[in-house]
Amino acid sequence: SRANADTKTYQIGTDVTFPPFEFANNDNKYVGIDMDLLRAIAKNQDFKVNIKPLGFNGSVQATQSGQIDGMISGMNITPERKGTFDFSKPYYSSGVVMAVAPNSSIKSLNELKGKTVAVKTGTAGADYANSIQKKYGFKVSTFDDSSNMYQDVTTGNSVACFEDNPVMMYAIKQGTKLKIVTKPANNGYYGFAVKKGQNKELLHKFNVGLDNLKKNGEYQKIVDKYLKAKP
Ligand code: GLN
Repeated sequence: SRANADTKTYQIGTDVTFPPFEFANNDNKYVGIDMDLLRAIAKNQDFKVNIKPLGFNGSVQATQSGQIDGMISGMNITPERKGTFDFSKPYYSSGVVMAVAPNSSIKSLNELKGKTVAVKTGTAGADYANSIQKKYGFKVSTFDDSSNMYQDVTTGNSVACFEDNPVMMYAIKQGTKLKIVTKPANNGYYGFAVKKGQNKELLHKFNVGLDNLKKNGEYQKIVDKYLKAKP
């Protein structure tokens, strides 16, 4: 048996609500692909985690200021973020889609002129919207979490939102009254992140654990648990 005297507990930030990657279940426990994956890796590599649902941007800030040890939050590995974060190996692929109300006539970016779109602070979706805002002539409203962003569209304040494709598809399947109208853009990969130059040991353990879970089938089991259509 292993000696647990020096088992380390890491403080890990995550989004408040980003199913199927992180969300509170009925027992108010954080579950989802990221949560199950991180806990399985921790078990595999003999460390402990304390999950802190700080929101996406909150987790970015807390990791950057060293208040927490790292974050897992469906976070895209981007060249820009690599300036301030060190990332694990990629563990999931995702792109940004635009979603509108089910009865909306908007089918493309070309129809956004003069309208307002909703984004989540500090995300790839927000970066994407900001990068094309001038070209398509829309306004941007920012929200701290995905549910408030969706709500701004369902209530009609905004005509569209920009969200990660797997997350938007999952929300719609779960009953969110939106529809996806664009193909995924700015495709990339999710990674676990620590502050650049810090927590090398944790990052190493994450990578080794991820490899082990991919080899032993546990990674796929976790993904399937949340994404495989139930019979
Ligand atoms: N994948 C997106 C990003 O990296 C959104 C993450 C999130 O909203 N939790 O910015």
